[in-house]
Amino acid sequence: MSPKRIIFGTPSIGDEEIEEVIDTLRSGWIGTGPRVARFEREFAAHKRSPYAVAVNSCTAALHLSLVAAGIGEGDEVITTPLTFCATVNAIIHAGARPVLADIDPRTMNIDPEQIERKLTPRTKALLPVHFAGLPCEMDAIGRIATQHNLKVIEDCAHAIETEYRGQPAGCIGDFGCFSFYPNKNMTTGEGGIILTRSEADAERLRSLALHGMSKDAWKRFIDPRFRHYLVTEVGYKYNMTDLNAAIGLHQIRRLDDFWRRRTEIWNTYDRAFEDLPLVLPTRAAEGVKHARHLYTVLVDRDRAGIDREDFIESLNRRLVGTGVHYLCLAEHPVYQSLFGWRASDFPHASRIGRQTVSLPISPSLSDSEVSTIISAVRESVA
Ligand SMILES: *Cc1c(COP(=O)(O)O)cnc(C)c1O
Repeated sequence: MSPKRIIFGTPSIGDEEIEEVIDTLRSGWIGTGPRVARFEREFAAHKRSPYAVAVNSCTAALHLSLVAAGIGEGDEVITTPLTFCATVNAIIHAGARPVLADIDPRTMNIDPEQIERKLTPRTKALLPVHFAGLPCEMDAIGRIATQHNLKVIEDCAHAIETEYRGQPAGCIGDFGCFSFYPNKNMTTGEGGIILTRSEADAERLRSLALHGMSKDAWKRFIDPRFRHYLVTEVGYKYNMTDLNAAIGLHQIRRLDDFWRRRTEIWNTYDRAFEDLPLVLPTRAAEGVKHARHLYTVLVDRDRAGIDREDFIESLNRRLVGTGVHYLCLAEHPVYQSLFGWRASDFPHASRIGRQTVSLPISPSLSDSEVSTIISAVRESVA
């Protein structure tokens, strides 16, 4: 048998997920319905949040949160240059202007001092991303937000398990946005969710996610009497379906096991790469829970004797798939032409974006696959 390629970010799907999807298909209700409602309750309880609104992606979650926060034309939103393009696209779709503040190169998270330098009278919100699952400095970010009357929207796409000084990520700012894309810490196929402490915000988000209708369509359909709906604002089509929620209901229950397995792989990597000329992920500070979403190594050609592209190619030849999280946003032509960004304006994010490689860390990896990855990395820098 020839060895199998190790795919980066494979999800772990169990029989319960598969059976729940089949039950949903047979139930006659595959759109937004009872399973989405249950998924929202269970995710909110898991995160100790009073309200959760399920949507069809984290991108949608970010966009709706910005709209619900009152962000629009003429406003500026400060975020990190080391994130997925969806973070800034959501800001642009809300009608606002994204402003980048460089990262702390050690944590790879947005640097509060850089945020302060980017504040203007037009700044209306901060959009921190808990990169790789390590929480941002939320105390400092909260202080800046309070001082300048800014909304805080947390991009928690990497941070389902993240905690900062005893508080779950996504429950610290005004809105917390999560992703259930296939390679995230749990999946619903495609999906996202928004956490908020405000009942009014939750109601508004729910309406915005479904065309701006005044009542959830599924409540209307299960009501024995005929009911008209009224459209109260121009909304979007961002609702999650019961087919997706069916997967998520069982993934929530496996989050702790997934996290423990990723932590085990993480610690194995830390020990196996200790002596190599690579920069390994930083350790989480006291009082912080790291979600261990991405295990990123930095490949500096002068130290490692190989550059990042050759390192990726070398792992690829050894059947190990990798990811790059992320090229600095200022490297992308569309943002350069829209906002005049240059990579050199964000020296930390651009250096890291050119050196970083994410190794597979899915909970579904076998011990022998972990050994294959370790050997491939060691052979590549030797
Ligand atoms: C994956 C990701 C998103 C987008 O999530 P989708 O659910 O695919 O829309 C946003 N921000 C970050 C940091 C991500 O990693």
